[in-house]
Amino acid sequence: MRLVLVGPPGSGKGTQAEKLIERLGLTYIGTGDILRTAVRDGTPMGKRVEPRMKQGLLVPDEEVNEVVAELFRSADRPNCFVVDGYPRTYSQAVAFDALLKQQYLDLDAVICFVVSDEEVIRRMCSRNRDDDKEETVRRRLAEYHKITDALLDHYRQKGLLKDIPASGTPEEIHQNVIKAIGAAR
Ligand code: ADP
Repeated sequence: MRLVLVGPPGSGKGTQAEKLIERLGLTYIGTGDILRTAVRDGTPMGKRVEPRMKQGLLVPDEEVNEVVAELFRSADRPNCFVVDGYPRTYSQAVAFDALLKQQYLDLDAVICFVVSDEEVIRRMCSRNRDDDKEETVRRRLAEYHKITDALLDHYRQKGLLKDIPASGTPEEIHQNVIKAIGAAR
């Protein structure tokens, strides 16, 4: 299976990635992790992206596209994988399509965890409801929708998009993902 996971902060995407990895034996590809490691190690790319990462802004498409391309062009490139946090923009999706085509790899599905903004705010601000935090979460959600809509349309047109309601227990959501991708035993 070759899967891409999309979802707003607070959608439980990371938990679902773990469950899929465990169940299907997939390789985890997380661009956030790769970029954080590069910053920590002080690589040239890490130095270039560090200021934007520190501000919580997306890094330029070319940087992250190159990171992913390098991974797929390596001798031990992943064959069955779940990608978390990439592609994040329409332009990254176009670059990723081209890369996979070049590598003769096809995606099986793009899984979008659907959760309302109000629910995300409830989940992320419930413990200590402070207005600053709520404002930050609202800003991140607005940014998420702004850049993600075109990405989702792209994959919907390709027939790859699976919308999964991200409500219920993690196990229930996982079962819905498994059904949607036809991996039920
Ligand atoms: P978060 O949920 O905090 O955004 P990630 O681990 O997915 O977590 O990403 C951490 C940071 O890495 C992002 O804030 C961004 O700066 C950078 N990043 C990760 N993936 C991408 C991507 N596909 N495009 C641009 N920037 C990215």
